[in-house]
Amino acid sequence: MSQGRLFCISGPSGAGKGTLVERVLGLVPDAWVSVSATTRKPRVGEVDGVHYFFMTEQEFTETIDEDGFIEWARVHSNFYGTPIAPIREHVAAGDCVLLEIDVQGAFQVRDKIPETTLVFIAPPSMEELEARLRGRGTDAPEVIDQRLQNAQAEIDASHDYDYVIVNDDLDRATAELVSVLQS
Ligand code: ADP
Ligand code: 5GP
Repeated sequence: MSQGRLFCISGPSGAGKGTLVERVLGLVPDAWVSVSATTRKPRVGEVDGVHYFFMTEQEFTETIDEDGFIEWARVHSNFYGTPIAPIREHVAAGDCVLLEIDVQGAFQVRDKIPETTLVFIAPPSMEELEARLRGRGTDAPEVIDQRLQNAQAEIDASHDYDYVIVNDDLDRATAELVSVLQS
């Protein structure tokens, strides 16, 4: 894969990845965000093919067997993977390609495509992360607890990232991400 630029955006659940990615899509003209596949159940308001491709475990396993993912991982007890065909297409078109994926997936992508840039979105503190996850109101309390338990391991992995952006002030963090994508 050559041309275009490939960025993996990672960070603990609730750090603000989705919020930041949505904002930069309106600011970086050739930015395109990959739609992942997952075995997680849709949240209220999530649309198949828009937010995720929602799959059964059997469909997910079949896609792995067909080499349909550039990377996949088990995250918070569900499977998530990035379909490879649209990535090839958008990288070849010269787009700024964004993958909003976990740290295991980002390292797999960089192993396959070494010029990939890894960007970590960090919360200002664990207390603020918890407040955002609870305030978002999309997950059950036990799901939030599991996500908070996994957060520290993800933050530890950020040492191997190219950039770490602390999402305290949303406008400042957005500007920082835009500048990384355009550098
Ligand atoms: P992620 O995609 O990393 O799981 P979200 O983008 O869904 O996180 O953000 C989690 C919650 O935090 C959302 O309710 C969002 O509106 C809020 N949020 C995101 N960034 C900030 C910020 N800089 N300050 C305060 N709240 C924020
Ligand atoms: P959520 O269930 O909140 O939508 O996503 C949980 C986590 O799964 C996200 O924080 C994100 O890092 C990760 N994720 C989403 N899509 C993918 C993917 O395609 N591959 C990998 N490895 N992780 C993903």
